[in-house]
Amino acid sequence: MKINYYSKLRLNKLLLFLLLTLPIGLHAQYEGIDKDYFEFPIQPDKTNFLSGNMGELRSSHFHAGLDIKTAGREGLNVFAAAEGYISRVRVSTGGYGNCIYIQHPNGTTTVYAHLQRFNPIIAEYVLKNQYKRKSFTINLFPKRNEFQVKQGEVIGFSGNSGSSTGPHLHFEIRGLNQEVLDPLRIAGFEQIKDELAPSVQRIALKTMNIDSRVNDQFGRFEFALQKENGTYRLADTLDVYGKIGLEVYTYDQHNGASNKNGVPLIDMKVNDELYFSQNIDTIDFAQQKNILIHTNYQAQKESRRRYNKLYVDDGNTLDFYDAKVNDGFIYASPGEIKEVSMKLQDAFGNTSKVAMTLRGVDKKRTIPTEIKSKKGSYVQDNTLMLFQPKDATNNNITIYKEQGSVIAEPTYQDDNTSVFLIDLRQLLPQSVTYNDGSQESLHFADRIPAANAHSYLSDTYSLRFSKNALFDTVYIRARHFIDDAQMEVFEVDQDRYPLKGSVYAEFMPLSQYDDLEKYHVYSIKNPQNPGFVGGKYDEGKFSFNFSSFGKYTLIKDDVAPTIKKGSVKNGRISLTIRDNLSGINSFEAKLNGEWILMKYEPKRSLIWSERLDKNKPLVGEFELKVADNAGNESFLKLKLE
Ligand SMILES: [Zn+2]
Repeated sequence: MKINYYSKLRLNKLLLFLLLTLPIGLHAQYEGIDKDYFEFPIQPDKTNFLSGNMGELRSSHFHAGLDIKTAGREGLNVFAAAEGYISRVRVSTGGYGNCIYIQHPNGTTTVYAHLQRFNPIIAEYVLKNQYKRKSFTINLFPKRNEFQVKQGEVIGFSGNSGSSTGPHLHFEIRGLNQEVLDPLRIAGFEQIKDELAPSVQRIALKTMNIDSRVNDQFGRFEFALQKENGTYRLADTLDVYGKIGLEVYTYDQHNGASNKNGVPLIDMKVNDELYFSQNIDTIDFAQQKNILIHTNYQAQKESRRRYNKLYVDDGNTLDFYDAKVNDGFIYASPGEIKEVSMKLQDAFGNTSKVAMTLRGVDKKRTIPTEIKSKKGSYVQDNTLMLFQPKDATNNNITIYKEQGSVIAEPTYQDDNTSVFLIDLRQLLPQSVTYNDGSQESLHFADRIPAANAHSYLSDTYSLRFSKNALFDTVYIRARHFIDDAQMEVFEVDQDRYPLKGSVYAEFMPLSQYDDLEKYHVYSIKNPQNPGFVGGKYDEGKFSFNFSSFGKYTLIKDDVAPTIKKGSVKNGRISLTIRDNLSGINSFEAKLNGEWILMKYEPKRSLIWSERLDKNKPLVGEFELKVADNAGNESFLKLKLE
């Protein structure tokens, strides 16, 4: 059976590509991918369970394939899903770990990641190349006729290598341009059972500009839903004004597993008109960063929930959205009724529905709704919100700019609280004085546009944003100071704006340091567990790149890694290597002066040897050198006999 998988546009792209690159006459087989073309790559005679599906929303990417559970076990046979040849073999300590790519005659590629080990023929090929290049990590591209495989042939064994956090097989099907396709929709594997519709947990409404309101307030508001007769409903009608964005927190579960997977298909209609539609059926690797703008990044940082936006936000370049009215945004005027419905569907066609009513109302100065935030400041997009308790006599605040000050009246208030909305496009405040006389420093440094490169210079630091650093304009708050614990802090806002690319920063140390070569930049998002960033010191300045906003500091690491000898048996030596602060950077072992391969599993801090010639005894002078990221080195010498 043929399925018409590709959209017309993609098909045209494919055909063009084929006409340009392949002999005429081959392209017929690309018109659709045969549903029976692929065999399930692990335990094909059983029902299997997934811990991840294709398109699932992860912290830095859309999940690229299926994560097939192996019940906590490793070493299960992994089969070639279809005939073809092994086009790539990779060994890395992070990422996909031990990984095989198979190129198939129909133009697709399948990927098998986090393997424990390869089949003996591939293992031998990898080992030879590791010795040839004197490197454990390796990325090999065998030729077309080197390793041909038949469908169902064992290519390796399932494991937990790379950045995997538990044993499973990560399996992908890719198209002609290495874009990821949904294996469940291409192959309809009967080894996976899913009769359960997506679960819709919550929805959120967000005001999209300073004049918008949800229940009379500016901000972002989450609502729980109730399920009645198969439809999720919002108990109350919501009052709205202006431009509003909707977001949904949803996941899909499969029969017999508790794992929360992604929901690929979501439609939203307003008064029966299709406003927004997403179909995560393919992902281009170059577009992966858009996950940060497809979801609500700020909400995820604040509430730990990853909401799927039902609007196409500024800077989003994904192409799996269709049939959009107003990019999905809802505009409400007083008196209008908006009946909103959503349809959420998994790869098996199981569907959930959501229904809610929005009522357009006018903006108010005195609002009947209780305001939750008390005193202080909060930034949402271009708008600064300031809150203070209501006072019988004075409800104004004073806002200080770089030059001069302005007195502001509340934008709206309830019985207890006043709220002030400041348009950051017009005013970048330095500090604010509240009605009780207290002052808050706001530290707005600059407006950073998304479309062009931009530099910001201060007395002790500078920031350089490339034109690809941001999705949207940000108003950054930045400062460089010594905190109460005498720690130098270089703070570039909080981690609430997503960064598309990295930002280059330079700063002159404020404190006196003894041995600056041993100091490096660390992220102190979690002060208890500083994260090594690196950077370098040159001519009085530290320079480094960061890919998320937040706090950074300088920490000295002059402690070398530790090496602990483990077992020596069956012709192999194993050791434990650890580093307390900057982390392991590299290691190298020699036996009788010759390079010897050490395999590395960072999750277990374990390295172990593997000889090219397994018949040679492991005897003689063994030397190991381990270096950390701060350049500290440890050495070990042993006599093996
Ligand atoms: Zn995976």
